[in-house]
Amino acid sequence: MPAKVDMDKIVSLCKRRGLIFPSSEIYGGLASCWDYGPMGVELKRNVRDAWWKAIVHERDDVVGLDTSIMMHPGVWAASGHIDSFTDPLVECKSCHLRWRADAVEGKGCPKCGGELTEPRMFNLMFKTSMGPVEEEASTVYLRPETAQGIFVNFENVVTTTRKKLPLGIAQIGKSFRNEITPGNFIFRTREFEHMELEYFVKPGTDEKWLDYWVKERFDWYVKLGIRKENLRLRQHGKDELAHYARDCYDIDYLFPMGWSELEGIANRGDFDLIQHAKHSGKELSYYDNEAGEKYVPYVIEPSAGVDRSVLAFLIDAYDDEEVEGEKRTVLHLHRSLAPVKVAVLPLSRNEKLTPLAKEVFNKLCPNFVTDYDDSQSIGRRYRRQDEIGTPFCVTIDFESLEDKQVTIRERDSLAQIRVPIEGLDKILEAKLKGEAFDASPLWATREK
Ligand code: ATP
Repeated sequence: MPAKVDMDKIVSLCKRRGLIFPSSEIYGGLASCWDYGPMGVELKRNVRDAWWKAIVHERDDVVGLDTSIMMHPGVWAASGHIDSFTDPLVECKSCHLRWRADAVEGKGCPKCGGELTEPRMFNLMFKTSMGPVEEEASTVYLRPETAQGIFVNFENVVTTTRKKLPLGIAQIGKSFRNEITPGNFIFRTREFEHMELEYFVKPGTDEKWLDYWVKERFDWYVKLGIRKENLRLRQHGKDELAHYARDCYDIDYLFPMGWSELEGIANRGDFDLIQHAKHSGKELSYYDNEAGEKYVPYVIEPSAGVDRSVLAFLIDAYDDEEVEGEKRTVLHLHRSLAPVKVAVLPLSRNEKLTPLAKEVFNKLCPNFVTDYDDSQSIGRRYRRQDEIGTPFCVTIDFESLEDKQVTIRERDSLAQIRVPIEGLDKILEAKLKGEAFDASPLWATREK
């Protein structure tokens, strides 16, 4: 597989195959906003589900939460977002475009060469008004992270779940940041989805848990198929740390534009609970029964982006290959991420084949995301499935009418095996779980 693919190829595949479209395209689009199409919505959901499974369902020390996007404005004063969530910007005096001060090389405006103002701080939160009257008192913000919804519910969760520390609270949801330099497709957008875990621990054990979560999160990407050589860990320098962080690691991915952050894992100490206790007047601490003491927990925060992960998975899976003298584009997506798991393909649109093919489709679709396609040549249909990363195609041919067997074609190895329709769902189930399935008593293998 090639180490890299350029972003244009990814953008064009996403458009062509219904993964991701420019937002409001018939109106000419809206800068840095994207819509997930029929295949993209499945892929994105699979990424979220894989994260939720690993973080919430497969552990007994983490619970989930889903909090509102608009929160009491006091939250953002306490968290520091009103004062510190800013980027220094310069503005062109001629064309009035704003640029991140650290992203401008040279003295003039990168667009028109015009003179630039001195850098000014610019808040990245979107402001809106709540209720029918637009006035200062009704100003609310769209959350720039999901984390604060977790901190303000810490007490609720501890009391209602009666869980002991270490305890994690996880949330997936939309965040909004008025980024100055969005771009690189879905890498940096103004509306995006966060997957955040706040893991509350006893002070003094925080460094151990930070190491633990850095490893867990790194391994998650590798387990889902990202090549290790395209990932790296980077510890933040002291001067780079956010105002709330005691320590922080980035998991970087080798994107087409170079190494860039995929996820951040920070040790936030007791900053957030202390701030919210101060601003709300409510005590936010934990009584440790075993130790017989009360303390404010420290927090380890793995914070990832759904969209940015989708992009990394797409880039890492993308390949242009030559197979038997023919070129194909293929997404070698991990089977759990693939938007469609099985495609049912009658050899041709023929009135004799269609009923059996539909029968096979109906048998599979309650258990797997299944696509039915009988348009154009079988070769073209294989190419289409390869391009969206469908791991298995099931072909129904004229022999199938006689012997009630079908052919499974594997996306990566291109191996074809002939199996009875009877056991098809069991075989696919095992294959999709990555299990070896000894079906030799069932099927007759037909090598290509
Ligand atoms: P960056 O340095 O890229 O702006 P950040 O350090 O501000 O990111 P965090 O606040 O740590 O990002 O958010 C955690 C994760 O959320 C990031 O690693 C990324 O995956 C995702 N993310 C943050 N901002 C955006 C954005 N504007 N568009 C898409 N994903 C984002």
